[in-house]
Amino acid sequence: MERVYNFSAGPSQLPLPVLEQAQRDLVNYSGAGCSVMEMSHRSKPYQAIIDTAQATLRRIMQIPDEYEVLFLQGGASLQFSMVPMNLAKRGQTTAYAVTGQFAKKAFEEGKRWGNAVAVVNGKENGFTRIPDITADMIPQDAAYLHITGNNTIYGTTFNTLPETGNVPLVCDLSSVILGKEFDVSKFDLIYAGAQKNMGIAGLTVVIVKKDKLTDDLDPIIPTMLRYKVMADKGSMYNTPPCFAIYMAGLVFQWVEQQGGVAALEKINTKKAGLLYDYLDDSKVFHPVADKKDRSIMNVTFTLPDDDMTAAFIRMATERGMINIKGHRSVGGCRASIYNAMPIEGVEKLVQCMKDFEAGQRD
Ligand SMILES: *Cc1c(COP(=O)(O)O)cnc(C)c1O
Repeated sequence: MERVYNFSAGPSQLPLPVLEQAQRDLVNYSGAGCSVMEMSHRSKPYQAIIDTAQATLRRIMQIPDEYEVLFLQGGASLQFSMVPMNLAKRGQTTAYAVTGQFAKKAFEEGKRWGNAVAVVNGKENGFTRIPDITADMIPQDAAYLHITGNNTIYGTTFNTLPETGNVPLVCDLSSVILGKEFDVSKFDLIYAGAQKNMGIAGLTVVIVKKDKLTDDLDPIIPTMLRYKVMADKGSMYNTPPCFAIYMAGLVFQWVEQQGGVAALEKINTKKAGLLYDYLDDSKVFHPVADKKDRSIMNVTFTLPDDDMTAAFIRMATERGMINIKGHRSVGGCRASIYNAMPIEGVEKLVQCMKDFEAGQRD
């Protein structure tokens, strides 16, 4: 089988040059005599790998010096717990924008630790739009407002960041980090699982303002779950996810070679535009997300019934486009078109949709 266009929401398609570089490095990394997977994380070559990965990420996201970059494990989901434990006192008020399923999961974990309140809950509208959030809706004594920058399952996104007043802003950027530009200085903490737009599963990147790091935490919080410990130890309090960090480093370099995040955002906007333009005119395919809140990373759409949906997914699969099926909670289809999805893949998908629609009329 040839390589396919993989529209999976995550783990997702990687840039081919990254895979090829990893292949060249696999058995004997840069003359080290062993692979990255076998190398001591305390060795010189490994230190260079993690340092370079961090430096490249700092450049491509223009991360200010007042921020620490951490390479952690446990997925974005562990950050649902680490954020409240590190940023809020036990029982303190924390605020959440519940705009999707991952947002809801973050909120539920927040409740375990503090007095988590939902400032908006998009459930009533099926999470198809981002409700407006104004500073007066946010308890001003909240330790933070948590938002999900891009709702991977529903295909909605915060096209403008909420005004929080004096409340720190925490953001789950798992499915849009490096896909469009963000001003890091607007956030107190950003986190993202790597397997969507930064590499492979096993790595979570946390970008946190240094003034949020403290040892003055509830003693019950395990050492491994303390940002300050991880920051002090250069993300190597214990063995880090060595290979996943190496892969992310290759992806960061690839992003830089593409012209950086701004250049990729342009292409991503164009890619998403091809799909949305078609969806807006189609009689068979219908977009799920409200126009103003549409994601450029995850494009969700439905067909009139399950049989047609299955038939379309079969047709796309036969043409070498896989993982178009929507998340089980939304149904329909979802095309995740992260950085590594070339525009040709999206053009091919739109053509497939056109052919499918034409077939319905015959
Ligand atoms: C995928 C995803 C998660 C969960 O990530 P894990 O790394 O599997 O824990 C959380 N938030 C968002 C927005 C996601 O897209």
